[in-house]
Amino acid sequence: MRKGFVVVVFLLLVLLSGHARDIRDSLIQQLRAEAPEVLLYYEGDTIRRIWGVPFAFGASPVDTAQNFVNRYGALFTRGTSQLRMTHTQDVMLGKFTAVYFQQEMDKIPVDRGELTLLVRNEEGYPLVLASNSVRFVSPLKTAPTISEEGALKIVASLRPDLHPDSKPELVIYPHEDRTHLAWAFPVDNHVLEKRERYRVFVDAHTGKVLEWRPEVYYVDITGRVDGYATPGLRPDYSLNPPVLRSIPKLRVSLVGGASVFTNLDGTFTLPYSGTSAVTVQANLIGPAVQVSNQAGTTLSLQQTVTPPGPANFLFNNPPSEFNTAQMNGLIQTQAVYDFIKSINPSYPGVDIQIPCNVNIDNTCNAYYSNRTINFYRAGNGCVNTAYSTVVYHEYGHFVITMGHPNASGDYHEGIADVTAAFLTADPCLAIDFRGAGTGCLRNAVNNRQYPCNVSSLGVHACGQVISGAFWQTYLEMRQRYASNPQFALDHMRQLYLNSILLRPSGISPQITIDVLTLDDDNGNIYDGTPHYVQIATGFARHNLPAPQLDWVRIEPVLLPPAVVSPSFGSAYTLMRFLVRVTNLTGERDPNAVFVHYSVNGGAYQTVPLRYQGGDRFMTAIPAPPCGSSIRYYIEARDTQGHATYYPRGGVSNPLQAFVALGFQTLVEDTFDTDLGWTVQSFSLTGGGWVRGIPRGTSQNGLPANPSADSPDAGTACFFTGQGSVGGSAGEADVDGGPTYLISPVINLAGTDGFIEYSRWFYNGTTINDVFTVEISNDNGATWVPVETVNFTGSENQWIRRQFRVSDYVTPTAQVRVRFGTSDNPNDSVCEAAVDHFVVRRIVCP
Ligand SMILES: [Zn+2]
Repeated sequence: MRKGFVVVVFLLLVLLSGHARDIRDSLIQQLRAEAPEVLLYYEGDTIRRIWGVPFAFGASPVDTAQNFVNRYGALFTRGTSQLRMTHTQDVMLGKFTAVYFQQEMDKIPVDRGELTLLVRNEEGYPLVLASNSVRFVSPLKTAPTISEEGALKIVASLRPDLHPDSKPELVIYPHEDRTHLAWAFPVDNHVLEKRERYRVFVDAHTGKVLEWRPEVYYVDITGRVDGYATPGLRPDYSLNPPVLRSIPKLRVSLVGGASVFTNLDGTFTLPYSGTSAVTVQANLIGPAVQVSNQAGTTLSLQQTVTPPGPANFLFNNPPSEFNTAQMNGLIQTQAVYDFIKSINPSYPGVDIQIPCNVNIDNTCNAYYSNRTINFYRAGNGCVNTAYSTVVYHEYGHFVITMGHPNASGDYHEGIADVTAAFLTADPCLAIDFRGAGTGCLRNAVNNRQYPCNVSSLGVHACGQVISGAFWQTYLEMRQRYASNPQFALDHMRQLYLNSILLRPSGISPQITIDVLTLDDDNGNIYDGTPHYVQIATGFARHNLPAPQLDWVRIEPVLLPPAVVSPSFGSAYTLMRFLVRVTNLTGERDPNAVFVHYSVNGGAYQTVPLRYQGGDRFMTAIPAPPCGSSIRYYIEARDTQGHATYYPRGGVSNPLQAFVALGFQTLVEDTFDTDLGWTVQSFSLTGGGWVRGIPRGTSQNGLPANPSADSPDAGTACFFTGQGSVGGSAGEADVDGGPTYLISPVINLAGTDGFIEYSRWFYNGTTINDVFTVEISNDNGATWVPVETVNFTGSENQWIRRQFRVSDYVTPTAQVRVRFGTSDNPNDSVCEAAVDHFVVRRIVCP
């Protein structure tokens, strides 16, 4: 029943798609036809998330993702850019695979432009989440006029103290009003005490510096207060003096020979086969960290022993501030690395020995920059900052940068705080950072709300929105799993770390969606997720609300068909609405089931469905006059007044029907014979419309001229210019113009009709050229636009379109349709084609 219904809706959408002239709207309709319950999360006009239920399938995660992008890339790829798959990533221990796409234009990456697709690793590889950071790109020349050296010189003249760290690379840099071609490269002052590092963007056409993007993440506080202390979470001060403990994961080596890392209990076994005395060295290097002391030589010990030893080392005896900081740097950095790997062993990019610079000659701060973590000395009231949660926070920035290279500043700070909070199971960050008794620098227990004004409150305060949401969710989880708090913590750790890999474009309810999707166990959000209540409660506390579940379930039993017969004579047509309503989280209200409907785009009217016994509710409405179009949706409320709609979205996503006896085909032209079309061109120097079997051409691997007609009967179509065998794409494309293909006269006097056609359009490096469809009701004296098609990367295929004549002109006996395109000024490869032209008359009594 359900499946049959979906097919009907799909046909209906195709039938009426002439209303939706925008390609994205028609793709959304197509997607909704295939996955009716799919959800879209918008930021302004941009779709940021697609989710809720599976909405694409394939033979593997990559297959699913690539097919989806091939079909639906235009939902995201606005302007002239393309999406290229770059890599995949395991998420949630084999439960999902993330597939990453980079946005590009002429193979040049678009800054921060990416699309992440999350595929469940189960039969059919369903796609359950699309995370979109694709940016609008307008056309531009992709050849730089400023050289690489020129860009370096411009930056050097502005900031001679900053040094480029690598060669400039070209990027597409979208900005508010226009898109720039830019040289991008990192510059750094290499001054540990006052680190400045930016990724700088220089306009490759004008030489203007577009942005200095900071790449240093400070704890960023100003300090004061007393005292100083390393066990537990507190700093190295008199209240918390260093204690003697074993040092795990520290490198021990034979001078000039093998090396090993110590075990968790500090013991080690160095393989060695001789019996003579050897020198053994111990350094502050772990598998994931390399400590560097900025206040003198970095600690290391060595001694000569005769095998088998023992070679026992004792570091930092007696303890001093600078030596304790080095030990902390090693132990805590290694601890946070192990923490990340225990959650997701394939987390990207973290398997390096990160430089950990301690005792930098400055106070009251710490920072992450360019794959290093950096900590200041004690002074000015602050403690030495190389301790527990400060190390976790700074390393958290590194983790975020590796998993989500384009994360925003507030997201960075908030998730870095979550890293420390979930490692320690303690919401207090950097306790007594400003001295004994000063308490937490920040707290994941907070009341910070989304949206948060970063420009007035700063990235650290605004980051608390997300640290607060994760922490509150953890508290809800701990309450639910009171008898197994470790599960609550482990699961929150999974959700936190893996959600980074979904690359949210900032702190917003999109993260709630990501976390729910990661938590879900069956690909359908509407029946809840295992911890929906906890996540919804925790995130709502910071105004990052989860989407509403269905309160009741509405299942259609009988709804009007796509084409409703009109009433005439004694045959009086009723449109029947019969649905089943059952309880979910809510209890259904039998007096609150309705159909809302609109005729020909007019105001919605509401009619109650009456209870029929069982779970059934029904009503019937007289069919409106022949030729009418109807939109409608069903609403059912629970006893608390909560509404559920069918289809979901209600008024924004209604079903449609059309009243007619049927349709009579007036014209069906496959262009295999000449039915009297004419070509009219202006200022054209090549590539006018011709009828025949097209010879395909391609440009940059993309089809330009079609290599076959559309999948109708026959083999011919109309297209713009036939080149020679093996000729170039530019040989017979449109030059100058416009060139128009004009239909014979169509007689629709006293009636109305639908016109259908297949179209193809390709445009090379610029999008100033368009493909137009127009209609005339005065034999071509005047024309009214039906659609104007830009090339956005996916129009170079046969696309079927349909429109209703009376939506554009009053039907007369002198209707004509014309298709046109041009390449004027002549600056690109431009090709258009048309096939399978059909006119159907609406038949009414
Ligand atoms: Zn930070």
